[in-house]
Amino acid sequence: AAAEDALKRLVVDVSDYPKPGVVFKDITPLLADHDGFTAVVQALAAAGRDAAGNVVIDKVVGMEARGFMFAAPVALALGAGFVPVRKAGKLPRDTFSESYALEYGDATIEIHKDGVAPGERVLVVDDVLATGGTVAATRTLIERCGGVVHSVAVLLELTFLPGREAVADVPLLALEQV
Ligand code: IMP
Repeated sequence: AAAEDALKRLVVDVSDYPKPGVVFKDITPLLADHDGFTAVVQALAAAGRDAAGNVVIDKVVGMEARGFMFAAPVALALGAGFVPVRKAGKLPRDTFSESYALEYGDATIEIHKDGVAPGERVLVVDDVLATGGTVAATRTLIERCGGVVHSVAVLLELTFLPGREAVADVPLLALEQV
């Protein structure tokens, strides 16, 4: 409940950003609030534990850029490593690369080939699940490394979009549905 309260209080709707008709969810007030940020990180981290509270993942993957801000502290909370998925051209060593469709044009994201080791179990953390394109492409990157996505955790799921269907066979924790 602490996490849900924090999201309701500290995620701000911004109308017509980044373009007319879009309501953008601004999470920066949440980041600035220590108690709220802590509650949300703790709630997300639950997706990396079993019912008895044991940590069942090896790595936490977060996507550039807002995913980083939640995935890294979740990794520390779980005693796991953090692995970044970045926009094309930003990672310095050998990468796997995936492109996916956006509303206008497309996006390419990358992971270091050795970012996840074969057999490792991964928790994927991002801020907002919208169409699911980002999470689905991230899952493909993890599987190309030989890893397995244990679960996906997001702050907000936009339920008017089919994001959940993009990763229907993986457990999804959404702290809030809007
Ligand atoms: P998807 O690939 O369509 O699911 O879009 C998810 C990605 O877009 C995430 O990485 C989010 O950071 C970003 N995103 C989409 N909508 C919003 C929003 O309203 N606020 C913040 N980020 C958003």
